[in-house]
Amino acid sequence: MLKQVADGVLVHESEFIQSNSVVVQGRAGVLLIDPGITRNEMVDLANDLRELGQPVVAGFSTHPDWDHVLWHASFGVVPRYGTARNAGSMRELLSSPDWQARVAEVLPPEYAEEIPMDLLGFITGLPAEATQIPWDGPEVRVIEHQAHATGHAALLIKERGVLIAGDMLSDILMPFLDLEAANPIEDYLDALHKLEGVADTVTVVIPGHGSVGGAQQLRARIEQDRAYVQVLRDGGVPEDFRVGPAAPLEWLPDVHQWQLQQLAQR
Ligand SMILES: [Zn+2]
Repeated sequence: MLKQVADGVLVHESEFIQSNSVVVQGRAGVLLIDPGITRNEMVDLANDLRELGQPVVAGFSTHPDWDHVLWHASFGVVPRYGTARNAGSMRELLSSPDWQARVAEVLPPEYAEEIPMDLLGFITGLPAEATQIPWDGPEVRVIEHQAHATGHAALLIKERGVLIAGDMLSDILMPFLDLEAANPIEDYLDALHKLEGVADTVTVVIPGHGSVGGAQQLRARIEQDRAYVQVLRDGGVPEDFRVGPAAPLEWLPDVHQWQLQQLAQR
């Protein structure tokens, strides 16, 4: 089911950790961002768009993690953009003969059968200096930053006051650092600073997973995520409900502990 969150911006929420797919209405059709998780969800979304008379004219993937690079044939054959780094990362994955097995290892077992892999990762890289998605609709600014995953990008639709945050600024997930990067903590803090820099223009924040929030939520989430990362940097224990005894996802405190161990071993 599509829910309107701003003028010409709709969200479809998946059962799998509240993954949000975003639809932005343009002049001749829609831009579809992080299209979804399961085959049925994507087919339903394609049907909803068809009923609205709104074909998909372009896609965008916020970052090269499996849950953000899926696609279904019913959306049609259109350019699926991402940053140059995102596309590079996907090219590298797909060039490996055992890529399907590697992806299968990290899929949630309860959904694995329902996740279509055949169109995974065909991302068209935007030129490295690109600041916008090339499409016929409201201007969508690409805010690339190094946090969570290589080539991660948030999108700002200024005229609609919407920030699409990718896997940043979630109310249910704590920051997942890019532990393959040289400076994951500094990168994350820089990325939050970058998002804070556009916060004045935002009235709706859409995270890759979790609830859509307003302007106050945006500020609160930036503060909350910054506090978490700073505590990690300083070797303390975060007072963060997302990884405490009342965590909204019961497996999350374990991931937090794992993240701590990984950082300690660097
Ligand atoms: Zn994700």
